[in-house]
Amino acid sequence: MRIDAARLAQSIEELGRIGATPRGGLTRLALTDDDRRGRDLMVRWMREAGLRVTIDQMGNIFGERAGTERVPPVMMGSHIDSVPTGGKYDGQLGVLCALETVRALNDHSVRTRHPVTVAIFTNEEGARFQPAMLASGVMAGKIALEDAYNARDKDGLRLVDELERIGYLGAEPCVPRPFRAYLELHIEQGPVLEEAGLQVGVVDGIVAIAWSRLTIRGVQDHAGPTPMRIRHDALVAAAEVVGGVRAIARELGGDLVTTVGNLTVQPNIPNAIPGTVTLSIDMRDPRTETLDAARARLDALVRAACEREGVRGELDHYWRVPYTPFAPDVVAAVERAAVASGARHRHILSGAGHDAQYMAAIGPAGMIFVPSRGGRSHCEEEFTAMDDIAHGATTLFLAAVDLAERV
Ligand SMILES: [Zn+2]
Repeated sequence: MRIDAARLAQSIEELGRIGATPRGGLTRLALTDDDRRGRDLMVRWMREAGLRVTIDQMGNIFGERAGTERVPPVMMGSHIDSVPTGGKYDGQLGVLCALETVRALNDHSVRTRHPVTVAIFTNEEGARFQPAMLASGVMAGKIALEDAYNARDKDGLRLVDELERIGYLGAEPCVPRPFRAYLELHIEQGPVLEEAGLQVGVVDGIVAIAWSRLTIRGVQDHAGPTPMRIRHDALVAAAEVVGGVRAIARELGGDLVTTVGNLTVQPNIPNAIPGTVTLSIDMRDPRTETLDAARARLDALVRAACEREGVRGELDHYWRVPYTPFAPDVVAAVERAAVASGARHRHILSGAGHDAQYMAAIGPAGMIFVPSRGGRSHCEEEFTAMDDIAHGATTLFLAAVDLAERV
């Protein structure tokens, strides 16, 4: 039993045309007109495949293929929203491989004990409405529906109004629903599989993530008359922190990655000594204990840098998710399916957050990775070879049949 790779390639092509950019990428932000067109196409395809489609209060779309018994479904899914000038693979590949799994089940007239459901989650990217993974977060009970509804884009438009405008404000309650397993196929977004010449990653879990915000207050003054010896320059201290954050990863080693991605300088003009600087620190590691060690080093680094420059630093560790392990029986099913599909594969961790992270909080979840060329994603150059996609899709299909119990 195999999936139909040509049909899958055709669907990737067709859905990828909605919001396509001139350089082969995709701009399809959540709840825009293009998102609506993408959703409409998916719903049509889901109905054509015989699925019973329902929409919940967050605009999440579910398409169910009945099982022989009324037991919780095996759910497969991802998202179809993209970042601005993103790629055609992030998110939509997982949704289309899930749909292809259903089509292949139909081709082979496979009956399963558990229902099989295709799920499309709203606003995964967090590009238009923050935070990311908003709708799976509501479903998992981690984000209040009210807060999600009141999220606003940069033009002040509310999420709930945009949901209604595009016709995807559904009636089904967005609450934890039981499932036998949740499976998400996704591009790796890193270089590991490609560098090893592999086609499929059996994902064991999602790394722990810690976000901190640092505000440094120095003394704003004139860049000319103020002698160097009496300066308290917030940006000089910040620069030391930026270099030091990189050094934390180098010193602790292993898989730890650390990033300062956002920096604001006030007043940010050529002829004033910067008075206030804020910066973000993102640290990730498979082991929560390593993140604790990294945080202690960050505290010491900020103290030392601020002391040297005679400025005040306020460090706020405001967001943290522990390591999310996937369910051993689901990971094992993915492993068996990867072997059966003939894919060259290995076990791997996800360095990025996914809807599967929230789903893992309410039921047994697992993921399948396929390679990203050059490790690149969230850009128009994002690419995965069709042969790798076919192996990943076959792995998803076989894992779904396994978990849903063929009868
Ligand atoms: Zn994604």
